[in-house]
Amino acid sequence: MVQLTSGARLSRDSSLRRVIEAVCACLLEAEPVLTGMDQRVGDGDLGISMSRAARSILNEIDTYPSEKTPGPVLRTMSATIRRVVGGTSGPLYAVMLLRAAVVIEQSGESTAKDWSAAFTAAVDGVMALGGAHPGDRTMVDALHPAAVALQAALAKSGGIDTDQALKAAVDAATSGATQTASMTPRLGRSSYVGDRALGFADPGAHAVGLWLAAIRNALNTQA
Ligand SMILES: [Mg+2]
Repeated sequence: MVQLTSGARLSRDSSLRRVIEAVCACLLEAEPVLTGMDQRVGDGDLGISMSRAARSILNEIDTYPSEKTPGPVLRTMSATIRRVVGGTSGPLYAVMLLRAAVVIEQSGESTAKDWSAAFTAAVDGVMALGGAHPGDRTMVDALHPAAVALQAALAKSGGIDTDQALKAAVDAATSGATQTASMTPRLGRSSYVGDRALGFADPGAHAVGLWLAAIRNALNTQA
């Protein structure tokens, strides 16, 4: 029996909850595609790992902290993923959420620029923990250009709207994921497959493009 501590929980109609639920729905839907992609170039477990994370988050979301403190929400999601997802992608996603949580907590606000800074810190965390750089044929090939594009779009003078900035990030991630098809694996799931991976995009990078698009769509449809 879990005794919930007192305090507000993540409200059903909050943007944060809708975004989390949209990302989870997208990953559940993508399971067969990610499995098929990973069977070509890895050990085939990515679809299952992502859907397990999504299902566990959806099961536990009623116990997550209030959207008024998004940092602790990200920390709790990180803990869920760390507990239920094995392999390499679990710890990498867990560290991403933890790094993002730290930045959001430190900023004390959650403007688009704060979220962008949190995303950049998250990507830096993945690169530090996993050791991958752009060009190694990993999820970093989608994450890194997306973080750069988001920051650049939001920094433009004259003010670009958040949806356009997110579109730039999604496009950069999608294009980065596509480009992995011509990269020789230097790290990660395909390092044992070698040149046989050529011609197929990295499923971890592909997944990043999918969940970033889900974030954008969720924010776009709740105006
Ligand atoms: Mg794997």
